Amino acid sequence: MGRKFIVGGNWKMNSDKDQIAEIVKNLNSGPLDPNVEVVIGVPSIYVAFVRSILTETIGVAGQNCWKVAKGAFTGEISAEMIKDVGAEWVILGHSERRTIFGEKDELIAEKVAHALEAGLKVIACIGETLEEREAGQTEDVVFRQTKALLPAIDTNWENVVLAYEPVWAIGTGKTASPQQAQDIHASLRSWLTSNTSSEVAENMRIQYGGSVTASNAKELAACPDIDGFLVGGASLKPEFLDICNAQV
Ligand code: PGA
Repeated sequence: MGRKFIVGGNWKMNSDKDQIAEIVKNLNSGPLDPNVEVVIGVPSIYVAFVRSILTETIGVAGQNCWKVAKGAFTGEISAEMIKDVGAEWVILGHSERRTIFGEKDELIAEKVAHALEAGLKVIACIGETLEEREAGQTEDVVFRQTKALLPAIDTNWENVVLAYEPVWAIGTGKTASPQQAQDIHASLRSWLTSNTSSEVAENMRIQYGGSVTASNAKELAACPDIDGFLVGGASLKPEFLDICNAQV
């Protein structure tokens, strides 16, 4: 059984209601490859709105959540709340959360554990910075980030997607080459074989993220260990549909 290709959109802190209505109209009219799972990560304040106008065949994700269900955490939202307003997914550990908001592996693992417990599916992001890549530490970094998630995920692997996003490729227009991306995806999969089980490793969907566009998506999608994308900038544009359909 093959891994179902999964494309995530990550709108980040972009769009207003009018722009959202426009993007959703485009997504709803398709056409979308029926063999692809599509999920869009929207600002939490718009989750309910998006869920109410978006076709049921596309999933909705929050872009972050806190690590407990409720309480005195002014300004935070919980996985339970994201689920309550109709989303099925949450993106956790994005590099912008790690670098701008100082989230460490340990906190991300706590969030992943709680989100899964609350019944959300998780897109867990990992990836090295440019300095780390240049220092030859790419594998060390992504293995360390993934290892931190193991106890949090426990036996819940079917509800997790890993997104490998080299930080130097995010929003920079500098995509990893298909070979660079494939190499890391393949080493991650073999790391998973050694550190979880061959079944988990074989079934694990690993997305590539970082300056994915309609023009580079097909070549990346053809790599055997790339099982989808996490798309930032281009997910706000009509070309997102072409990225979703990259395997057609
Ligand atoms: P990008 O962002 O596609 O704009 O590079 C990817 C991401 O941050 O998930």
